[in-house]
Amino acid sequence: MSTPKINLSHIDSWIFDLDNTLYPADVEFFSQIVTKIEQYVARYLSLEPEAALHLQKEYLTEYGTTLSGMMAVHGMDPAPFLDYVHDVDLAFLKPNPLLRENIKSLPGQKYIFTNGSKGHARNVAGHLKLFDLFDGHFGVEDTGYIPKPKAHAYDVFLSVFTDIDPKKAIFFEDNLRNLKVPKDLGMTTVLVVSDEDWSHEPEAARPAAGAGEADFVDYVTNDLAAWLGENT
Ligand SMILES: [Mg+2]
Repeated sequence: MSTPKINLSHIDSWIFDLDNTLYPADVEFFSQIVTKIEQYVARYLSLEPEAALHLQKEYLTEYGTTLSGMMAVHGMDPAPFLDYVHDVDLAFLKPNPLLRENIKSLPGQKYIFTNGSKGHARNVAGHLKLFDLFDGHFGVEDTGYIPKPKAHAYDVFLSVFTDIDPKKAIFFEDNLRNLKVPKDLGMTTVLVVSDEDWSHEPEAARPAAGAGEADFVDYVTNDLAAWLGENT
């Protein structure tokens, strides 16, 4: 066994985002959800695809998720939206035995914290053969549909899982902006990146854009399983 490069011996709570974190962003999976979000917004507001896409991106920036913007601005009911956008083909996702082994070996409690629904977390993590390893899973319905990166989402998370001491917690995320609050709360932060870009955005607008200058990211990896293996 190699000596860990960094010291995580104080960590007893391991918090993972779901999409593009517990599976690599370069598989053709999350793009299905993005497409379905665009379709739903276009249909709901009777917009042409291009106008819907524009609006959707605006809400993503301003409200944290498209859902949050649609609720705030248009009073949309979240449940049918979530059912629709999470109804995707899981066959693209392949279980990673090394990731399972390395999460299983982590000392302490493990959690999933997603901006998707809890059912989505169950489906996806279940399909990845990881779900049974987690002590808790937390979805956007738990916060009254207030998503990361809003501070309220993390406050509710910590009020549900009261065993978590933020100073002994580590947060894994592919979306850079979702790590700012965890860092402010005292957590260790890990940005999970991919060479592939699911957002199809210009480089400056991608989920991990600006990571090099972000002082709230402690570590960056493009291979979560290997990183856990090397450092825990
Ligand atoms: Mg994600």
